[in-house]
This record gives sequence, structure tokens and C-alpha cells, in this order.
Amino acid sequence: MARINANYNKLAAGYLFPEIARRTAAFSDANPGVNVMRLGIGDTTEPLTDVVIAGLHAGVDKLSKSDSYSGYGDGEGDQDLREAIAAKYADYGVTFDETEVFVSDGAKSDSANISSIFSHDAVIAVQDPAYPVYVDSNVISGRTGEAVEGQYEGLVYMPCTEDNDFFPEPPRQKVDLIYLCVPNNPTGAVCSKEQLKSFVDYAIDNKAVIFYDAAYAPYITDTSLPRTIFEIEGAKSCAIEINSFSKDNGFTGVRLGWSVVPQDLVVEDSESGKLNTMWRRRQNTFFNGSSNIVQRGAFASLSPEGRKLSQEMVGYYMVNARTIKSGLESIGITVFGGSNAPYLWMKTPNGLSSWDFFDKLLTETHVVGTPGSGFGPSGEGYFRLSAFGNEADIATAVESIKSNLQI
Ligand code: PLP
Repeated sequence: MARINANYNKLAAGYLFPEIARRTAAFSDANPGVNVMRLGIGDTTEPLTDVVIAGLHAGVDKLSKSDSYSGYGDGEGDQDLREAIAAKYADYGVTFDETEVFVSDGAKSDSANISSIFSHDAVIAVQDPAYPVYVDSNVISGRTGEAVEGQYEGLVYMPCTEDNDFFPEPPRQKVDLIYLCVPNNPTGAVCSKEQLKSFVDYAIDNKAVIFYDAAYAPYITDTSLPRTIFEIEGAKSCAIEINSFSKDNGFTGVRLGWSVVPQDLVVEDSESGKLNTMWRRRQNTFFNGSSNIVQRGAFASLSPEGRKLSQEMVGYYMVNARTIKSGLESIGITVFGGSNAPYLWMKTPNGLSSWDFFDKLLTETHVVGTPGSGFGPSGEGYFRLSAFGNEADIATAVESIKSNLQI
């Protein structure tokens, strides 16, 4: 008799974004003709760069001739792409060889799958609030108990609050796997090298592993801040970095990411190289490699001209971040983030709950944002706005908030 994976029943609520879509659709149905403006989901809006388009076209053309056609590629990704990714880290004084780089269909899949090479009884720590996949993937795999008052039993929450500038200290108790996301989604918080070193030291002392999601690292312009965890001495022995072409090259729909699993990474019962081999095995068993066309586009994005254009794309969204921040501050709203990150984390006015503010913002200003409580208990009373969007649309949305929000 087949039975379901009952861990799915533990998932606290419907995923955040479907609920936003449901409320937005209900508003639109009740108010036909009203233009709803979105400052909500972290999806890119600007077209791919010419360099990426040329790379994708070249990838398509290659498949049109029998002498250049290729079928399945390496499960880990094309070698030249892995080399180009490894070479990118040289900018930060970090060296890798390409056997440590694994190309995938995106950082979300890697974030969800990476814990599968660690023991089932591992104790998990997450930033609170956090990108939901870290928590939900561990709920589904049975590493947590039930949700009680918005917190899963057995999970260690590291609160990110105004008091700690939205970046936590390492846990006081012993944990095994730690998810860190810097710059953070949803708070837009970054951390200093010293703060990151405290996590690396903790991980080394406790034989723990850090999953470091650096999908927004290209948004860090302050060069004193770490752009990769591997800038911190010792990180290769205790960290896996997860990354993406989505946010700096607009690959949210194209799909491509990578993870770095260092050969030096070790845990209690593994010698060096073992976890790298296990992830290779995992990917080759469950995944037949990323699209060869898409990999050609990504490879092109790593050329000098490609990198220049992707920086321009980041700069474009960061203009929006400044527009949102200054607009909200001009009406007395407290806003965090948005300096080295494409997310702004605003405090809801008058102590409103995140969802009450969602409804108020939508009704009064026709702007959709993302309730902070959807990212974890410490997100209650906050609200995420995203700088991903067309410049003119963002400016219109901010003007509507300035003129119509009643606070
Ligand atoms: N990591 C973080 C922190 C994100 O916010 C997102 C998307 O919003 C992703 C990963 C997803 O990346 P990808 O598009 O490569 O799956």
C-alpha cells in the first residue's frame, strides 16, 4: 500500500508567493481596470545582454550540424564553463580547480538538494527570516518536527533583527548544517569579513558545514565586504557555496547556477575529497546535466565584455533600490538593506502585521510587496520590496506609495 511522504503535511502554509498571487487576483477581480504595480517577487525584468544572446545563439547553431552536435554533456557541466567559473573567483584572491565546481539548473535546486549528502539526523540552523527553500527542503526530508507557532521543532533559528543589523551570531548550541545567505533575501543585509569568520570558526570547531548562498553577491559594491565565503581563511574545509546566473545575468527563466564543493571539505566521518565525490555521484544519479545551449550563454557572460554588461545590469537594478529607499524614507518609513543588495526591508508603519500591511499597501497604493512574516517568525512586522523591475514602473510605484499611503 503506497503512502504519502507525510512530512509534506508539516509544511506550515501554502508557499508565500501563491498566497500573494491569490490576494492580488482577488483585488484585481474586485477592482477591474486598476493597474496593480509589483514590487514583490525577486524576478528579473530586463532583457539578456547582447553577449549572452550571442552565446545562446552559438549554442543553438552548434546543435544544427552533425559535426558539432552534442547530446548529454558532463553531469557537472561543461569543462570550459567550470573553468571560467573557477577563474572568476581569482578576482577575490580565491583559487579552485574546475573539479570543485558543479553547474546546475539553478541555486534553488542546489539549496534544496545539498543537504542530501549529509546524515539524516543533522541539526539544521537557518537565518530567520530566510529564503524559504532552506527550511522547507529540510521539513520535506524529515529533519524537523511539526510547526508550532510559526517555528519548526528541531530547527535552530538564528534571529536577524534590528539589534544585530539583521546578521546573526553563530548559534550557542551545537548544530551540524548552517544556511547563510549574503546578501540576504529578504533583509538585504550583508556581513563583514569578521562576522563571516566567526561562522567559519564555529563550523571548524564544531565540524559543521555552512551552505553559503551567494546568489546576490554581484550586488556587493563595498569592496571591504566578502563576495564569497572562500575569502575567509579555512572556509574550504567547512563551506559549500551556492550561486546563480539569475540575478546578475537575468537567467531566472533561462536557468543556470553552480555550487562549489571544495576537495578540502571534511566532516566528522569523511576524508577530504569524499563530499566532493558524493555530490558528483548525487548529481550524476539524479540529474543529466544542464542545458548545453544555456551553458553557452553563461560561458559568454563570463567573458570580459559579458561581465561588464552584467555589472551594468546590476547597476540598473541598484538605481531602483535607491529610488525605493529614498522615496520611502521621504515619508518617514524606516528602511533597511538596499545598499549592497537588491532587497529593501521596511518596517511596517504603526506596528502593523506584515499581512495587514500587504493588504493596506495593495488597497491604498495598488502596490504589491512581500510580507516579511512569510520568510520566518522574525520577519513579522517587516515587509520586503524588491528592486527588480523596470525603472519607470518602479518610479511610478514609489510615487503612488508617497502620494496614497495613509500613515
Ligand atoms: N537563492 C536566493 C537567496 C534567492 O533569493 C533565489 C531566488 O530568488 C535563488 C537562490 C534562486 O536562484 P536560481 O534562479 O538560480 O534558482
